[in-house]
Order: sequence, then structure tokens, then C-alpha cells
Amino acid sequence: MSRKLLLIILDGVPYANWRRYFGCLEGWVAHGDARIWRMRSSLPSMSGPCYASIHTGVAPQVHGVLSNAHIQRVTLPDVFSQVRAAGGVTGAVTHSWWSEFFNRAPFDPVRDIEYDEPDSASINHGRFHTMSGYDHINQATPSDVDLFATLTSLCHRFGLDYGILHTCTLDSMGHRFGHDCAEMDHACALMDTMLAKFLPAWRAMGYEVIVTADHGQSLRGHHGGTGEDQQDFALYYFGEGEGPARDVLLDQRQLAPTVLSRLGAPVADTMKHPSFLA
Ligand SMILES: [Zn+2]
Repeated sequence: MSRKLLLIILDGVPYANWRRYFGCLEGWVAHGDARIWRMRSSLPSMSGPCYASIHTGVAPQVHGVLSNAHIQRVTLPDVFSQVRAAGGVTGAVTHSWWSEFFNRAPFDPVRDIEYDEPDSASINHGRFHTMSGYDHINQATPSDVDLFATLTSLCHRFGLDYGILHTCTLDSMGHRFGHDCAEMDHACALMDTMLAKFLPAWRAMGYEVIVTADHGQSLRGHHGGTGEDQQDFALYYFGEGEGPARDVLLDQRQLAPTVLSRLGAPVADTMKHPSFLA
């Protein structure tokens, strides 16, 4: 691998919330340490289809995950498989759907809650959570500090070349409270400060870091459909690559080939959209 990279996915954070409430991330942009662009999700702007688009670089109509009711092993090449083909070590600290999409399905909570599989053609080091029991009131999400710490631990212990972290905390807060309320103000600020505690250490370990979302949410806390509120989110990049002009709208299908290009891993033939970093 020519470089190492961590992809941080904060589920369901609309563009406006990134810009208003993530003062630590915005501070790094203002100081010249990070760059920011707007990215637009695939359709439908639902979590499962967007996770699969993030990692395969193709639309839901191609990878086949067309709703959150289609949780299955995705058969197309993805970021994990391409990094493994290049000899890199992969890790994931995410919702269990990522394990089902890219390693094996259905998810067996005892077998799959955590695994270390050095010879895997997909995820070498996985740490997952299912959010079983999630409903409108009980979010059933882990603390994000625990997730950030787990990813950092995997990087130290196993020398990850590529690691992904995904958390549903803010998506669940949005579904519960909407986005024009004190609860969401606080939740975003809390996430920003938790992330800021770990991000400098990842950079010091030599990782490029991308922080972004899978889709946005409307003010009422909905997503799945069209429109800037449901589809658009910010993408922050910490690294030495050159990117497009600030006002270029990025396509979610560009993310997989971008990550692979930065790592020096082969971009799969199925990934037709160009990397936005060089
Ligand atoms: Zn989502």
C-alpha cells in the first residue's frame, strides 16, 4: 500500500448540520489542515443502499441493495476486496450490515460480533454492533468514544492499511428529534468533540482521514427520497492529495475509487466514476 486511510461515516447528517455544528472539523478547514466538499448520495437515500454504494462505487440499481429490507451479501468488488487483492490489511468498526454486505450474511451475533481473519479476502478485523431493539425512543447505539477507541486499537494492534468506522448515533437522533432542536445541536457538538479527540492521533499515525455521511435528512428527520436535504452531506478530507474546486458537487459513487486510488489499490472495472483526489 502506498498510503493508509481511515473512512469515518457518520450516518444521516445533512450538509447544513456539518457546517453549523462541527466546529472542530470546520476549524481544521479554516486553518488549512482539511478540505471540504458537498457530496450527493445515491437513490434511494436510505442507509443500506448508500452503504453498498459507498463501498462498491455503483448505484443501488447496479449492486441490488434497493432498500433497508435487502440485506444480503453484495457480489460486486468493493473497497475491502480490492485492498485485500493488493495485499493490504482491512478493518471495520461498524453496524453489522457492513459485515453482511461485504463478508457474510446472515449475521450471526456470536460468530460475527467480532472476528480476526488474517486470510480473509474481505474484512480482516471486524468489530460490529447490531442495534438490536432499536426503535423511535431507544436508539440502541454504542458510545461513539468506544467506537473511535476500538478503531484506534485495531490500527495499533493490526496495522490496518484501510479502516472504516460507521455510527448511527446522529441518524437515530434525527429520526427521533428532527434537526431544528436543542437535542440535535448538542448531539452534533458532542460527536464533533469526540471525533476531535482521536483525529489528530490518526494523522500522527500516518493515516489520511475522510469524514463524511451516507445521506442527509430532512428537518423532520426523514431520508430515502430526493432533494438536497435528504441526499447531501459534507465530506472532509485530511491528506496530501489534490482535489477539485471547492464548489464541485461530488457523487457518492466516486468515494470507492477515490479511497482505492489513495491507497494504491486497483480500482475495479465495475467502478466507473473517477476519483476526486489525485
Ligand atoms: Zn443511514
